[in-house]
Amino acid sequence: MLIDVVTIFPEYLAPLDLSLIGRARRDGLLDVRVHDLRDFAHDRHRTVDDTPYGGGAGMVMKPQPWAEALDHLMTSGGEGASPRLVVPGPGGVPFTQAMARELADEPWLAFACGRYEGIDERVHEHAAQDLGLRVDVVSLGDYVLNGGEVAVLAVVEAVARLLPGVIGNAESLVEESHEDGLLEYPVYTKPARWTSAQDVTRDVPQVLLSGDHAAIAAWRHQQRLERTAARRPDLLHASQPAAALADLDLSVATRGDAAEILTLTRACWAPEYARYGLFGAGTATVEEAAAELQEWTTWTFRAAGRLVASVRGRLDPDDRTTWQIGRLMVAPDLQGRGLGRELLAFGERQAPSGTAAYWLNTGAASERSLRIYRKAGYRVRPGEGAHPGTVDLAKRAAR
Ligand code: SAM
Repeated sequence: MLIDVVTIFPEYLAPLDLSLIGRARRDGLLDVRVHDLRDFAHDRHRTVDDTPYGGGAGMVMKPQPWAEALDHLMTSGGEGASPRLVVPGPGGVPFTQAMARELADEPWLAFACGRYEGIDERVHEHAAQDLGLRVDVVSLGDYVLNGGEVAVLAVVEAVARLLPGVIGNAESLVEESHEDGLLEYPVYTKPARWTSAQDVTRDVPQVLLSGDHAAIAAWRHQQRLERTAARRPDLLHASQPAAALADLDLSVATRGDAAEILTLTRACWAPEYARYGLFGAGTATVEEAAAELQEWTTWTFRAAGRLVASVRGRLDPDDRTTWQIGRLMVAPDLQGRGLGRELLAFGERQAPSGTAAYWLNTGAASERSLRIYRKAGYRVRPGEGAHPGTVDLAKRAAR
């Protein structure tokens, strides 16, 4: 990934040479170029600001140096390449983990660090309209900093650590706060019993020493819910059902459910459709969805009447000992609460006796789904899966 930062304080970005980000730069995973905005000012004092039109306190950054800096960036990428421009600002859209993931998919990011009262609005228009850049004004939070540099440090760190190879243990990225809408559980390390200088002894919660993985997972999930409720109740939407499949209303889908199932399919797999055009279901009709209900048994799960999860299963028409599980879907706002894993286990339990293996199919690059399936014991079969751009996975049945 290429990152350009334009600032009047290039030395502010020095921390990007440290730690994991610094190593990623040295390893060639990340190329960070910092530009001094004053190099694009032509007067003796290298002026980049002036008084605001309409009056008011403070100074505003002039359009000319900014436009020249951005024009310069445009000539520094490859033929036809252009960066996505991020402009830090307290009036921007809040920076989130989801946005970090989105930005991590970009090959080239440019950051424009404002100072004073900000950058002349016409610079945004120039970038978007004359240079054809996607421009995002991004806020670090509801407070005011002196300049965009601190925001850039935060955004670059959050984005860069998602790039493949930057963090040694990629699994550690999955269970973090905000990855799935909940905060992380409390963490502990050795010793199990620790006494402070004030002679207070504190033990690590017993369950973490038990070796009982299911109990540990349940404890951690409960801690995540409690911590999120206490510190960030805004993340727990009031309409969200409890985090267990058992709390949802289960039925077998009929023709009348086809439209809702199709809507859920689109909502769940929009990123995959956009990337790979998978299954053609992005363009599937309600009629086609209804027809598929004849070929598979589809189970639906509802919360207060709303379809929030679904899975389907059938015996493989070519091998009656294999139970095929498909369209495992949890509404995007409820993902990351363990419902997907529960749904998969539910799908497996529907297999008739005599089933020798379970079978699944997913996008070859659907890392999140693949992680869930691997964790549940599925192994990817070599070669392409049943649909272009997909892989098949299989697991021996437990009976
Ligand atoms: N007058 C501006 C306003 O009220 O929106 C504030 C300007 S602030 C003093 C100067 C610069 O700091 C901004 O242009 C922006 O680059 C950066 N900045 C300040 N607060 C920020 C925040 N919460 N998130 C991101 N950048 C911020």
